Amino acid sequence: MGSEVTIVGQGLAGTCLAWRLWDRGREFNLLHRGEGRSTSSISAGLLTPVTGRNVNPSWRLEEFLEEARDFYRKVETVLGEQFFHEVPIVRLFTDADERGRFDQKRSELNRWVAEFLEPRDCPCHAPHGGVIWKGGGRLDAQRFLEASRGFFREAGLLEVQEIDLNVPEPDGRISVLCAGAPGLGQGPFGFLPERRAKGEILTVRILGFPEDRIMSRNGWLIPLGGGIFRAGSTYRWDDLSDRPTNSGRAQIEELIRSFTDLPFEVLDHVAGIRPIVRQSRPVIGSHPEIENLFIFNGLGSKGVLYAPGAAGRLGAHLCEGHEIEEDLNVRTLFC
Ligand SMILES: Cc1cc2nc3c(=O)[nH]c(=O)nc-3n(C[C@H](O)[C@H](O)[C@H](O)COP(=O)(O)OP(=O)(O)OC[C@H]3O[C@@H](n4cnc5c(N)ncnc54)[C@H](O)[C@@H]3O)c2cc1C
Repeated sequence: MGSEVTIVGQGLAGTCLAWRLWDRGREFNLLHRGEGRSTSSISAGLLTPVTGRNVNPSWRLEEFLEEARDFYRKVETVLGEQFFHEVPIVRLFTDADERGRFDQKRSELNRWVAEFLEPRDCPCHAPHGGVIWKGGGRLDAQRFLEASRGFFREAGLLEVQEIDLNVPEPDGRISVLCAGAPGLGQGPFGFLPERRAKGEILTVRILGFPEDRIMSRNGWLIPLGGGIFRAGSTYRWDDLSDRPTNSGRAQIEELIRSFTDLPFEVLDHVAGIRPIVRQSRPVIGSHPEIENLFIFNGLGSKGVLYAPGAAGRLGAHLCEGHEIEEDLNVRTLFC
């Protein structure tokens, strides 16, 4: 596949793919709409090894986590700035069922446990105790995207251009649609199942709250330093606008109050749409009928974990002809 590559979209998917092609010396250009915020730029950037009420390690965790860490370290070296911060994650159990599920899976989960917390050891009221996960952390997604954008702009590889996602024209070049939520439910890949979900996040100031670990229980509270925290997030499927809502704000304020009694001030409130195809497992690969048209989407709620590894596989396919694994390949999964 010798032709030049056009990457449509500069969220986590498009940016990670751009780095993978740059690393291989492959010619490409990176298009983005240039206005507003992408979902990636408002994302909390959390990478949590074990998630959900069922306390399950993420799909293919060890492999994708190692690839993600290596990838962010390499980009940090090129750009001279740190984006990925390893931070302990305090997961408090919501109820006895959740604690029971953890106890049942304890041997499988031990690899990710830094410490088990009895209720008396928890940083706030937590009658079912909790656990501190290791191996995760937080990507400063906004800075990662901005700094990457600056780098590719300097290299003459970035263009601000909105394309019609219903009729993208590969035009002899390879086009990879990394358009996130707008790229689902329409256009040539409109046949993919999708369940896009809106999410909202507050940035708040909580003076005197000493916590410097990420806290998680039905949502999360992330320390950014200087008394500033991000808190979220919500899930909604009936409103796919990116407008923040009063009900979203109220829900997150209640979440913050479950972690601390201290007063807080809301500094910012944002919303975005998660591009979900099959939970948070990415899909990559070529269109079944349109030559040279590819997709990289479906990062769901786990773009920080999966974007680097999925981009690596797509880069290896486009540059070295490596087969795309069946459980990532849009053709074997959905055609
Ligand atoms: C509230 C919230 C919190 C989240 N928190 C986390 C978290 O803590 N950890 C985590 O891993 N994930 C999190 N996510 C999920 C994460 O944000 C997504 O997985 C990720 O952003 C998806 O990246 P993407 O590149 O596929 O899409 P996007 O980031 O949406 O990027 C799409 C790109 O395509 C461009 N584009 C779209 N249409 C066009 C067009 N017609 N022409 C040209 N360009 C176009 C856009 O401008 C943008 O640059 C969160 C999501 C939300 C909503």
